[in-house]
Amino acid sequence: MAKKQFQAESKRLLDMMIHSIYTQKEIFLRELISNASDAIDKMYYRALSDDTLVFNKEDYFIKITADKANRTLTITDTGIGMTPEELENNLGVIAKSGSLAFKNENELKDGHNIIGQFGVGFYSAFMVADVVTVTSRAFGSDEAFKWESEGADGYTIEPAAKDSVGTKIVLKIKENTEDDQYDEYLDEYRLRSIVKKYSDFIRYPIKMDMTSR
Ligand code: ADP
Ligand code: MG
Repeated sequence: MAKKQFQAESKRLLDMMIHSIYTQKEIFLRELISNASDAIDKMYYRALSDDTLVFNKEDYFIKITADKANRTLTITDTGIGMTPEELENNLGVIAKSGSLAFKNENELKDGHNIIGQFGVGFYSAFMVADVVTVTSRAFGSDEAFKWESEGADGYTIEPAAKDSVGTKIVLKIKENTEDDQYDEYLDEYRLRSIVKKYSDFIRYPIKMDMTSR
């Protein structure tokens, strides 16, 4: 499958993420959880306007799975999912959502921790991962697709298997270097504390599933 290239703007942001200009790498988890929560919100709002759709609270959650042996951290949600076109348009280009500008303005008023508060979005996953794989099945579809990227050299999209609607993001966590520890992003207690620090306000359950060793 031929690799597609990121747009120039996205590539710049991506480069910043890969070279980790941010000292607080841990915020990647906040970004991925916030996207998962947004995706569930979209189901919630759809159910409000669609009588045939019932929003059963217990069906909607975010799950974090760490696998130390395979160095993978997986974030799964039961949200609205993405079609292959959406994978292409939403992950292949830098998000133009107004939420970013809005967030900045408001958080600047708070005055502190500006970098940490800055909504850097999906690409922040590349601060801690060598490979990011997004498997998604959109609401209303029985097909799933897989978006995969090692960062700088583009991404691929291909058909995949997924039993249920929603999105699963697998991060292949970087190896430790002399300067940076990445193992901590596979550690249950560290992950729990990051979730507590940044995602305490999330309206949906965040489940943790740890495979140690
Ligand atoms: P933002 O959240 O500010 O729009 P992001 O870079 O975090 O920017 O995400 C880009 C877009 O990718 C989102 O707007 C959304 O459309 C899509 N997206 C990312 N993660 C998910 C997810 N888990 N489920 C559905 N769509 C997602
Ligand atoms: Mg986001």
